[in-house]
Amino acid sequence: MVDARQPVMTGGCQCGAVRFAIYAKPARLSLCHCRMCQKAGGSPFLALADVPHGDHAWTRGKPGTFRSSNTAERDFCPACGTPLSYRATGGEYIELTMGSFDRPQDLTPAYTTGTEAKLAWVDHIGTLPGKTTEELWELKDFVSHQHPDHDT
Ligand SMILES: [Zn+2]
Ligand SMILES: [Zn+2]
Repeated sequence: MVDARQPVMTGGCQCGAVRFAIYAKPARLSLCHCRMCQKAGGSPFLALADVPHGDHAWTRGKPGTFRSSNTAERDFCPACGTPLSYRATGGEYIELTMGSFDRPQDLTPAYTTGTEAKLAWVDHIGTLPGKTTEELWELKDFVSHQHPDHDT
C-alpha cells in the first residue's frame, strides 16, 4: 500500500506480517489496567497510544480482529499474535499498543484507566531488582526471529 504522507512513527507486530504508520503524534498516551486489557495483552496492563483513525494506516498485512465486547474491537497479528490495538466501535481513535511501536521509548503515558483492576504490585515495579538481558542469558548462539524496528 502506497501512502504519500510521511509517517511520524511506525510500528508492527513481532513477526513483521502486520505493519502500521501514524501521520500525527498520538493525541493521548495512557496505561489501561482494566481486566479486558490485561487479558487482551496477556500482561498486567496495556500501554496505549491514541491516534485519530484518519492519521493511522496498516501499511503491511492486515490484522485479525476480536470483538471483545459490544462496544469495542481489538486487532492483533494473525501470524504471531502480537496485540496491536483497541478500537471503540464508532470511536474517533485507534488505540495502538505502545510496545508494538518501533520506538516505544518516544512514548510516555500521561494517565491511567481501568484502575479498579490494577494489580497491587504494579506500583512497585521500579523497586524490583533488575538485570539486562545479556546479564541474564548467554547470547552467543542467540538468533532473533523478531522483525527489526523499522519498515523492510
Ligand atoms: Zn506478526
Ligand atoms: Zn482497558
